[in-house]
Amino acid sequence: MIQRSKQDKMEGGRVAVYPGSFDPLTYGHIDIVERSLEIFDRVILAIASNSPKRSLFTVEERIDMAKKIFENTPDVIVDSFKGLLVDYVGRTNARVIIRGLRATSDFEYEYHMASMNRSLNNQLDTLFMMTSKDYFFVSSRSIKEVASLGGTVEGLVPSLIARRLKEKFKLPVPKENQIGWDD
Ligand code: ADP
Repeated sequence: MIQRSKQDKMEGGRVAVYPGSFDPLTYGHIDIVERSLEIFDRVILAIASNSPKRSLFTVEERIDMAKKIFENTPDVIVDSFKGLLVDYVGRTNARVIIRGLRATSDFEYEYHMASMNRSLNNQLDTLFMMTSKDYFFVSSRSIKEVASLGGTVEGLVPSLIARRLKEKFKLPVPKENQIGWDD
């Protein structure tokens, strides 16, 4: 084990892939990334570009927002992938997939996906992180719903995302908020 960790360091450290739709990125996701960086040297935030979910933001928009949000965190690499996650992860030097867990309702889906991925490639493992208490109710979907109805998503997404949501839903951006966004 000690041998392996030394070798990993030489090869650029321990890398994990955090895949998802990130439509859009929320503080729930960002919290998982930050906590993953306590365990891994680098995290690849991998935006699934052929997710069956109907997305609000294009993959290019999601990549752009994620790159801006993590621009001062060089250990986060923003990327996108098509096709099977295990094939993508196999092309990186990561051996761990990170997923976040909120409620028990996440568990069943995640358990099936992790088992399927393991059966497709038994060299890969999925690591689950429990959501933080501040974000257990935060999902991209609920953020989109609230934002589409003109509700505030402040404190749940970075201000850059809040602004992009407003632009998407063509709601007026309050004058006092037209400058000073986190982008
Ligand atoms: P996907 O379409 O792959 O589920 P999401 O962007 O919705 O993509 O979520 C990516 C990952 O982040 C999933 O593992 C999801 O459970 C996790 N996640 C989403 N929101 C939160 C949150 N608030 N706290 C912890 N994990 C979260």
